[in-house]
Amino acid sequence: MIDAFNNFNGGEVIFHRPLKDLTTFKIGGTSEVFVEPYSLASAITAYKTAKKQAPVFILGAGSNILVSDNGYKGTVISVNRLDRINLINKNSVYFECGAKVSALLHFCVKENLTGLEFLAGIPATIGGLVAVGAGAFNENFCSYLTSVTVLRDGVVTDIEPDFSAVGYRQTFLKKDDFLLSGVVKLKPAGEYFIKNKIFSYINRRVAQPKGFSAGSIFKNPDGDYAGRLIEKAGFKGFTVGGAKISEKHANFIINYNSAKSRDIVSLISVAKTAVYEKFGVQLLEEIRFLGEFDDYYGGLPHSY
Ligand SMILES: Cc1cc2nc3c(=O)[nH]c(=O)nc-3n(C[C@H](O)[C@H](O)[C@H](O)COP(=O)(O)OP(=O)(O)OC[C@H]3O[C@@H](n4cnc5c(N)ncnc54)[C@H](O)[C@@H]3O)c2cc1C
Repeated sequence: MIDAFNNFNGGEVIFHRPLKDLTTFKIGGTSEVFVEPYSLASAITAYKTAKKQAPVFILGAGSNILVSDNGYKGTVISVNRLDRINLINKNSVYFECGAKVSALLHFCVKENLTGLEFLAGIPATIGGLVAVGAGAFNENFCSYLTSVTVLRDGVVTDIEPDFSAVGYRQTFLKKDDFLLSGVVKLKPAGEYFIKNKIFSYINRRVAQPKGFSAGSIFKNPDGDYAGRLIEKAGFKGFTVGGAKISEKHANFIINYNSAKSRDIVSLISVAKTAVYEKFGVQLLEEIRFLGEFDDYYGGLPHSY
């Protein structure tokens, strides 16, 4: 697998690269191969090269993943440098998948475009938003897309979003799609109007815990909140190793003291069991898992 990248010159290649500093949890082992392509064209080459050998994982800002302590036996492709954003007409913005939400919002303020302020405070890449169907305050980012370009089954394809597939943490992308770029359509507005909206959404996040986390661990079940159920089950503030179910918001797990991913998995397992036993509700993880977890508590059941 390593040999396949010996002659790759379209980006940085590192073998056995630690991944923890590339995630918001700050946890996890190494990736056998790590590639950071310099351009979309080299990202496509890297993906196709890697796919012939072993599993491939596309890494955005690492804000919705838990990496195994044992690392990943495959290739991680980081989209960090694929971060172009530009205007393609008065109201439409082109982005590459690795552009950050914060950069897109800055761009919107500069170009007087409104619509995406609800994303303020999400530490993600735009590709990551689309991949997981991210949203906030009853809005989903995918609803603003007019087109995306994906690498699907080895072919670069332009597709229009299927809005009927978009919902709460649901995307129209297929499982192995590599989202390369896309276009969002927004509306004109004044700079102060947009800035005020951004500030008001950031203020609405004051209840969000600080510290190393991956945001909400579980999806909210229909008509309820995962955090409320975990709190009512008595597990707010519960700790395992260096990880804690937040005292501020029980759907957040915080790495407060050099936690291992097995500590996080243990808390996930405790919270799921407690909520199921007390309320008969099966919580499903919102975060994604990278690497092997089989030796942790008999492996992770359910949603991935
Ligand atoms: C403090 C905090 C607050 C948060 N608030 C919210 C919130 O309000 N709403 C919300 O929905 N989420 C929230 N999150 C979770 C997270 O930010 C989102 O899920 C985000 O969309 C993940 O994007 P990412 O770039 O970090 O993706 P990563 O975590 O790097 O990856 C997540 C998944 O997307 C895939 N992926 C990433 N990029 C691509 C691509 N270009 N093509 C194909 N697949 C790709 C990865 O392979 C992985 O499966 C929060 C997280 C934190 C830490």
